[in-house]
Amino acid sequence: MSIFNKIKTGLQKSRSNTASGINNFLANFRKVDRDALDELEEMLILADFGPQTAADVVERLEDAAKKQKINDRQTLKQVLCDTIIETMPENPGLILETRPSVIFVIGVNGVGKTTSIGKIGSMLTAQGKKVLFAAADTFRAAASEQLSIWAARCGADIVKHTEGADPSAVIFDAISAAKARGADVVICDTAGRLHNKSNLMHELEKMNRVIDRELPDASKETLLVLDATTGQNAIAQAESFAAVTDITGLIVTKLDGTAKGGIAANVSSRLGVPVKLIGVGEKADDLLPFDGRQYVEAFFEEE
Ligand code: GDP
Ligand code: MG
Repeated sequence: MSIFNKIKTGLQKSRSNTASGINNFLANFRKVDRDALDELEEMLILADFGPQTAADVVERLEDAAKKQKINDRQTLKQVLCDTIIETMPENPGLILETRPSVIFVIGVNGVGKTTSIGKIGSMLTAQGKKVLFAAADTFRAAASEQLSIWAARCGADIVKHTEGADPSAVIFDAISAAKARGADVVICDTAGRLHNKSNLMHELEKMNRVIDRELPDASKETLLVLDATTGQNAIAQAESFAAVTDITGLIVTKLDGTAKGGIAANVSSRLGVPVKLIGVGEKADDLLPFDGRQYVEAFFEEE
């Protein structure tokens, strides 16, 4: 299946609730007038693109309609797509230029951190890279077991400690092991408890200090994982994490199971951080590099 089709299939569900709205709107579209603009704005907000992007699109369409006659769906979709794409920083892809490089994965509980790490591991080992997982979510034993299964499945190494161990110590050991074994990439899983913000902040700082001290010149990706099905909640999560750490990219998961796929563009534009990867299912190959144009076009493609 082509990547476009995969995103489309993934986003199909994402669209299903809003799709009838989008399809109806596109099918009934005749000209840019107040009714059409209001309907469009509401549709974009319902799909979680956010009031700012919705307002931008409406304004842009109004302007465009003054210069050229917009009475066909193709032109309408073009302006719609271009406007949304412009709100998002472009995705440069994962930057992993040193050996080892580090991918530090953060986010609240249940968003899909461990699963995404398994998928990234699968992607990188398939490229011939030597991958080492650091099981720094020591909060529950099940977390490192889950990561061990992914490690075995994709042929990655794993460093883990017992439940309740210091996450920073796991990261320290993982980096030492990566150096000793010549690993290409260390991917760090973390626990995502936001109920105690100062504790979480402290833990993240400590882990970051270990990484920066042990690998001062390494490429380091800090990827925040957001669950698209949580809709607006994802914005609050993103802002909390952005306040305490430098996020280099977003992973937006579960785009296969939501009517709110617009949240990816919404958070990305608010934070000024690119979406780097999207999750469209639970399997190893259900993680895709994010392409803004494909995403937006898949979203507004008519059935
Ligand atoms: P964590 O607590 O952040 O580590 O989250 P997990 O990786 O354990 O994932 C929580 C649940 O979400 C699991 O049942 C995963 O299979 C599921 N999951 C993760 N990513 C996706 C995705 O892109 N699509 C779907 N449908 N499920 C996902
Ligand atoms: Mg986990």
